[in-house]
Amino acid sequence: MLREEFSDDVLKLRPRELRLGRDAERLLNDVCGTEGERSKSAHKSRLRPDADSINAIRCADCGQVEYISRDYCRCGHYLAGQLMDEFLAWERGLVETRDRLAAAAEEKMKPVRWVGACGMPFIVWPLLHSVFSAGSTALAIWLWLIPGFAIMGFCALIETWITAARDASAHAVETATFEQFLSERVPAPSH
Ligand SMILES: [Zn+2]
Repeated sequence: MLREEFSDDVLKLRPRELRLGRDAERLLNDVCGTEGERSKSAHKSRLRPDADSINAIRCADCGQVEYISRDYCRCGHYLAGQLMDEFLAWERGLVETRDRLAAAAEEKMKPVRWVGACGMPFIVWPLLHSVFSAGSTALAIWLWLIPGFAIMGFCALIETWITAARDASAHAVETATFEQFLSERVPAPSH
Protein backbone atom coordinates (compact mmCIF):
# COMPACT_ATOMS: atom_id res chain seq x y z
CA MET A 1 0.00 0.00 0.00
CA LEU A 2 2.86 2.35 0.87
CA ARG A 3 4.54 1.70 -2.42
CA GLU A 4 1.55 3.12 -4.19
CA GLU A 5 1.49 6.33 -2.13
CA PHE A 6 5.14 7.39 -2.57
CA SER A 7 7.07 7.81 -5.71
CA ASP A 8 10.13 5.62 -6.44
CA ASP A 9 12.52 8.50 -5.66
CA VAL A 10 11.24 8.83 -2.14
CA LEU A 11 11.49 5.10 -1.46
CA LYS A 12 15.12 5.10 -2.55
CA LEU A 13 16.05 7.82 -0.06
CA ARG A 14 18.39 6.68 2.65
CA PRO A 15 19.32 8.55 5.80
CA ARG A 16 22.58 10.32 5.16
CA GLU A 17 25.35 10.85 7.65
CA LEU A 18 25.59 14.30 9.04
CA ARG A 19 28.75 15.82 7.68
CA LEU A 20 30.36 18.58 9.69
CA GLY A 21 33.42 20.56 8.82
CA ARG A 22 36.72 18.92 9.80
CA ASP A 23 37.41 21.53 12.49
CA ALA A 24 33.99 21.11 14.01
CA GLU A 25 34.43 17.32 14.14
CA ARG A 26 37.80 17.62 15.82
CA LEU A 27 36.42 20.06 18.34
CA LEU A 28 33.57 17.70 19.19
CA ASN A 29 35.97 14.80 19.55
CA ASP A 30 38.15 16.79 21.88
CA VAL A 31 35.27 17.82 24.06
CA CYS A 32 33.26 14.61 24.22
CA GLY A 33 35.33 11.97 22.48
CA THR A 34 33.63 9.33 20.41
CA GLU A 35 31.70 6.62 22.13
CA GLY A 36 34.47 4.06 21.45
CA GLU A 37 37.22 6.27 22.79
CA ARG A 38 35.27 7.11 25.90
CA SER A 39 34.69 3.47 26.82
CA LYS A 40 38.31 2.68 25.95
CA SER A 41 39.70 5.33 28.27
CA ALA A 42 37.27 4.29 31.00
CA HIS A 43 38.51 0.73 30.57
CA LYS A 44 42.09 1.94 30.66
CA SER A 45 41.65 3.76 33.95
CA ARG A 46 40.01 0.68 35.44
CA LEU A 47 42.83 -1.57 34.25
CA ARG A 48 44.95 -2.77 37.16
CA PRO A 49 47.60 -5.49 37.48
CA ASP A 50 46.90 -8.81 39.16
CA ALA A 51 47.54 -8.59 42.89
CA ASP A 52 49.88 -11.59 42.73
CA SER A 53 51.87 -10.19 39.80
CA ILE A 54 55.47 -9.12 40.23
CA ASN A 55 54.33 -6.01 38.38
CA ALA A 56 51.94 -5.06 41.16
CA ILE A 57 52.29 -2.96 44.28
CA ARG A 58 49.59 -2.34 46.83
CA CYS A 59 49.14 1.33 47.59
CA ALA A 60 49.67 1.90 51.31
CA ASP A 61 47.21 4.78 51.22
CA CYS A 62 44.12 3.57 49.33
CA GLY A 63 44.85 -0.18 49.39
CA GLN A 64 44.37 -0.58 45.63
CA VAL A 65 46.71 -2.68 43.50
CA GLU A 66 48.72 -0.46 41.19
CA TYR A 67 51.38 -0.90 38.54
CA ILE A 68 54.83 -0.86 40.14
CA SER A 69 56.23 1.29 37.35
CA ARG A 70 53.91 4.19 38.22
CA ASP A 71 55.41 6.95 40.34
CA TYR A 72 52.04 7.91 41.75
CA CYS A 73 48.98 5.86 42.60
CA ARG A 74 45.69 6.95 41.08
CA CYS A 75 44.78 8.27 44.55
CA GLY A 76 47.88 10.51 44.48
CA HIS A 77 50.01 8.47 46.91
CA TYR A 78 53.75 8.55 46.04
CA LEU A 79 54.34 4.91 45.04
CA ALA A 80 58.01 5.38 44.07
CA GLY A 81 58.72 6.50 47.63
CA GLN A 82 56.75 3.60 49.06
CA LEU A 83 58.72 1.17 46.88
CA MET A 84 62.03 2.71 48.01
CA ASP A 85 60.93 2.36 51.65
CA GLU A 86 60.13 -1.30 51.01
CA PHE A 87 63.55 -1.80 49.41
CA LEU A 88 65.34 -0.20 52.37
CA ALA A 89 63.32 -2.32 54.80
CA TRP A 90 64.24 -5.44 52.79
CA GLU A 91 67.92 -4.47 52.87
CA ARG A 92 67.72 -3.75 56.60
CA GLY A 93 66.14 -7.18 57.10
CA LEU A 94 69.07 -8.82 55.30
CA VAL A 95 71.58 -6.98 57.48
CA GLU A 96 69.68 -7.90 60.66
CA THR A 97 69.58 -11.56 59.61
CA ARG A 98 73.32 -11.50 58.92
CA ASP A 99 74.09 -9.91 62.30
CA ARG A 100 71.83 -12.37 64.11
CA LEU A 101 73.45 -15.36 62.38
CA ALA A 102 76.93 -13.96 63.00
CA ALA A 103 76.21 -13.56 66.73
CA ALA A 104 74.72 -17.07 66.91
CA ALA A 105 77.70 -18.56 65.05
CA GLU A 106 80.11 -16.74 67.35
CA GLU A 107 78.31 -18.19 70.39
CA LYS A 108 78.38 -21.73 68.94
CA MET A 109 82.06 -21.41 68.01
CA LYS A 110 83.24 -20.72 71.58
CA PRO A 111 83.28 -24.38 72.77
CA VAL A 112 84.64 -25.49 69.39
CA ARG A 113 87.60 -23.11 69.81
CA TRP A 114 88.26 -24.55 73.25
CA VAL A 115 88.30 -28.07 71.86
CA GLY A 116 90.59 -26.88 69.06
CA ALA A 117 92.93 -25.35 71.65
CA CYS A 118 93.01 -28.69 73.43
CA GLY A 119 94.43 -30.23 70.26
CA MET A 120 97.33 -27.77 70.12
CA PRO A 121 99.63 -29.46 72.75
CA PHE A 122 99.54 -32.68 70.72
CA ILE A 123 101.11 -30.80 67.85
CA VAL A 124 103.34 -28.41 69.75
CA TRP A 125 104.94 -30.99 72.03
CA PRO A 126 106.50 -33.26 69.31
CA LEU A 127 107.74 -30.14 67.47
CA LEU A 128 109.33 -28.69 70.61
CA HIS A 129 110.83 -32.09 71.41
CA SER A 130 112.39 -32.33 67.96
CA VAL A 131 113.84 -28.84 68.27
CA PHE A 132 115.29 -29.12 71.76
CA SER A 133 116.31 -32.76 71.99
CA ALA A 134 119.85 -33.49 70.97
CA GLY A 135 119.17 -36.82 69.32
CA SER A 136 116.49 -37.85 66.79
CA THR A 137 112.88 -37.80 67.95
CA ALA A 138 111.35 -41.19 68.49
CA LEU A 139 108.46 -42.27 66.28
CA ALA A 140 106.26 -42.67 69.35
CA ILE A 141 106.57 -38.95 70.01
CA TRP A 142 105.71 -38.04 66.42
CA LEU A 143 102.58 -40.19 66.76
CA TRP A 144 101.22 -37.58 69.16
CA LEU A 145 100.66 -35.41 66.10
CA ILE A 146 97.83 -37.72 64.93
CA PRO A 147 95.29 -36.91 67.66
CA GLY A 148 96.35 -33.25 67.42
CA PHE A 149 95.57 -33.02 63.71
CA ALA A 150 92.42 -35.10 64.16
CA ILE A 151 91.07 -32.70 66.79
CA MET A 152 91.99 -29.61 64.78
CA GLY A 153 90.55 -31.07 61.56
CA PHE A 154 87.35 -32.01 63.35
CA CYS A 155 87.05 -28.47 64.74
CA ALA A 156 87.64 -26.96 61.29
CA LEU A 157 84.84 -29.12 59.88
CA ILE A 158 82.47 -28.06 62.67
CA GLU A 159 83.40 -24.41 62.07
CA THR A 160 82.59 -24.70 58.35
CA TRP A 161 79.25 -26.25 59.21
CA ILE A 162 78.39 -23.62 61.86
CA THR A 163 79.40 -20.61 59.78
CA ALA A 164 77.84 -21.71 56.46
CA ALA A 165 74.52 -19.95 57.09
CA ARG A 166 76.29 -16.83 58.39
CA ASP A 167 78.57 -16.66 55.35
CA ALA A 168 75.66 -17.18 52.94
CA SER A 169 73.77 -14.38 54.68
CA ALA A 170 76.80 -12.07 54.55
CA HIS A 171 77.13 -12.81 50.83
CA ALA A 172 73.44 -11.96 50.35
CA VAL A 173 73.97 -8.57 52.01
CA GLU A 174 77.00 -7.80 49.84
CA THR A 175 75.29 -8.69 46.58
CA ALA A 176 71.86 -7.23 47.34
CA THR A 177 70.57 -5.03 44.51
CA PHE A 178 67.34 -3.23 43.74
CA GLU A 179 66.70 -5.62 40.83
CA GLN A 180 67.07 -8.58 43.17
CA PHE A 181 64.65 -6.95 45.59
CA LEU A 182 62.11 -6.56 42.78
CA SER A 183 62.39 -10.19 41.77
CA GLU A 184 62.25 -11.46 45.35
CA ARG A 185 59.67 -9.14 46.85
CA VAL A 186 56.53 -10.73 48.10
CA PRO A 187 53.64 -10.05 45.75
CA ALA A 188 51.09 -7.54 47.03
CA PRO A 189 48.83 -9.58 49.32
CA SER A 190 45.30 -9.91 47.94
CA HIS A 191 42.47 -8.96 50.21
ZN1 LIG B 1 46.47 4.70 46.21
